[in-house]
Amino acid sequence: MRVGFVGLGAMGMHMARNLHRAGLLAAVWNRTTDKARALAAELKVAAPATLAELAAACEAVVTCVSADADVLEVTRGLAAGVREGSLVIDCSTVGAETARQAAQLLEPKGVEFLDCPVSGGVEGARDGTLAIMAGGSATAFERAQPILRALGRTVTHFGPTGMGQAAKATNQIMCAGIIEACAEAMAFAHAQGLPLDKLIDTLGKGAGSSWYFVHRAPNMARGAYPAGFRVRLHAKDLGICHDMAARFGVALPVVERMLHEYAELVARGFGDEDISATYRLKAELFERTNIMRAPGNA
Ligand code: NAP
Repeated sequence: MRVGFVGLGAMGMHMARNLHRAGLLAAVWNRTTDKARALAAELKVAAPATLAELAAACEAVVTCVSADADVLEVTRGLAAGVREGSLVIDCSTVGAETARQAAQLLEPKGVEFLDCPVSGGVEGARDGTLAIMAGGSATAFERAQPILRALGRTVTHFGPTGMGQAAKATNQIMCAGIIEACAEAMAFAHAQGLPLDKLIDTLGKGAGSSWYFVHRAPNMARGAYPAGFRVRLHAKDLGICHDMAARFGVALPVVERMLHEYAELVARGFGDEDISATYRLKAELFERTNIMRAPGNA
């Protein structure tokens, strides 16, 4: 199968490489064209000038771009050139409704669409160990197997178009609560004067551990938050969760709180840092207390 890849960001660059390793990658496209040209030259694959040209040259296209409007823009570009009978797999995290709109853009061309958001971070993308949550027809899911197996280790079909995104939204709510708990705990530990590296090593093997604690608490200990999973992208995901819960008349406390904290980080210019930057706000809670406790403020 000749596969094209669109969106060579923090995730997509690794995913495209894994498709290449599996012998599937035929062409790449990126909005900032230099990235696509450099990767194409390195891997000796094509770098067509337009999305339509890429779609015309491939039997399947995988997309991994930022947000809802970007997925629809890219899908329209692909729709201008897609071959009948081909397959488009979107690995971006967007709303379930956006997935259904993208599917509708391709349906008149005789092209099937799968929403296949992923979880596992940049490391999972690099190592080909992503958890992939698929929505779409069972036949499209079956056809996509060689591609999905090249990208991830756990590949699950949740139902019709949009259900992959619904599963991913569920995951994003968990991530919000876990990153907040990790940041709060690490700020607390720092204020106690605990040796943070030792603590991460020990608690990383305890019952309160998680992927985020093991992989991102070291960022908090170092005070450096390279992307990673950008604050503005998780804020975008939580906006999706907010809207989906609001349809039931529900406001989820973890979602609402983290939307507030991320808005604060974005406003301060930290939107492109990894979400472990939440630690900045939690550490400040203790800094404020220290000021209150300083001599003369008692
Ligand atoms: P990223 O590093 O910001 O990369 C975004 C990519 O999308 C870039 O290649 C960008 O092109 C492209 N893009 C954005 N808007 C576009 C548009 N309108 N038209 C064409 N291309 C466009 O993001 P990422 O971290 O790879 O994340 C990509 C998706 O995966 C997001 O939906 C994110 O929520 C999801 N995700 C991320 C992680 C993670 O840990 N990073 C984990 C799971 C899922 P340029 O190079 O031109 O900017």
